Amino acid sequence: MAKITVIGSMVMDNVAKMDKFPQAGETVLGATLEFFPGGKGANQCVSVARLGGEVEMVGMLGKDGNGDVFRQIFKEEGIKADNVFSCDKPTAVAQIQINAEGQNRICVIPCANFEFGVEELNKVDELIKNTELVILQLELRLDITKEIIRRAHRYGVKVLLNPAPAVKLEKEILGMLDYITPNETELSILTGLPTETDEEVIAAAKELLSYGTKTIIATLGSRGALIATKDSVEIVSGYKVKAVDTVAAGDSFNGAFAVALTEGKTLKEAVQFANAMGALTVTKKGAIPSLHTRAQVEEFIGRIPNQKIKES
Ligand code: ADP
Repeated sequence: MAKITVIGSMVMDNVAKMDKFPQAGETVLGATLEFFPGGKGANQCVSVARLGGEVEMVGMLGKDGNGDVFRQIFKEEGIKADNVFSCDKPTAVAQIQINAEGQNRICVIPCANFEFGVEELNKVDELIKNTELVILQLELRLDITKEIIRRAHRYGVKVLLNPAPAVKLEKEILGMLDYITPNETELSILTGLPTETDEEVIAAAKELLSYGTKTIIATLGSRGALIATKDSVEIVSGYKVKAVDTVAAGDSFNGAFAVALTEGKTLKEAVQFANAMGALTVTKKGAIPSLHTRAQVEEFIGRIPNQKIKES
C-alpha cells in the first residue's frame, strides 16, 4: 500500500483565448484553444510523486481521450492508479475563457468526478485502512468526501483536507480532521470570520481548532503559511520569487506538506518545504507543468537563506 492516498478530482482544462467574452446569445471567434490536465486531486498527486512520495490516486475518469491523458500521466509519474475507475460519463472538463485583458470565466463540469460513489468507496475501503495519510479536496461529491473522512477517522488513519473549492462544513466533520489547509478565502468561508489581516487569520484558525481539527495550516500566498495547533501558533514566511502564474500553488503546497509529514519531519519543517514547493510553482506557467521535482526543490532551499519565523 502507498503511504499517501489521494482521493480526488481529475479535470481537463480547455482554455480558450478571445478578444472579448461573448454576451448571452452572441457568438465570437476565439484566438487559441489549449488543453491542460489538472484538477486538484491530480495536481496534488503528481506533486507528491515528483517529490519522491509513495502515492496512489483514487478517482473516476471517463472512457475517453481525456481520461487516457490522465492514465498516461499516472504511468509516466510512477503513480499507482489501479483504483482510478472508469465510467460512461465524460472525464471532467473545465471550460476556461480568457479575454484580452487576462480576465477569466470558468465553468467546471464534474461529469465523471461525481460518478465516484459508495460502490467505488467500498472497493477502496481496505486501501483507506492501510494507508498512512489520505488527502482530500472538495471537488468530488460532498457526501462521499464526508463519508471518506468518517471512515478514515474510524480506522485511525490521518486525513488532510484541502477545503477547495470551499463550502461550509459541519463541525462534526471538521473535528475529525488531522490537517486542514485552507487559503485565506477558504478559511473565511469555513469559519464565517474575516481573514484580511494576520490577526484575523489567527483568530479564524483558533475557531477551527475549537471544533476539534488538530492542525490548521492556512496558506497565505507570498507571505507563507500559518501553523495553528492547540499548543502554538506561528507564521512560517514564504520564499521571495518572481510570480508568473499562481495556478496550482496550493496544490503543490499540499503535496509537499504531505510528503514531508510522512517522512517524519516536524510541522514547521514540513511547512518550510511546502513553502519552497509553492514558491517554485508560481515561477512557472500551468498546473502539472509547474510542479517541480525533489532535486529542484532541494537545490532551491539550499540557495535561499533561512526563513524568519514569526511567533505569536
Ligand atoms: P491557493 O493557491 O490555494 O490560493 P496560496 O495562494 O496561499 O494558495 O498559495 C499556496 C502556497 O504557495 C503559499 O502558502 C506559499 O507557500 C506559496 N506561494 C503562493 N504564492 C506565492 C508567491 N507569490 N511567492 C512565494 N510563494 C507563494
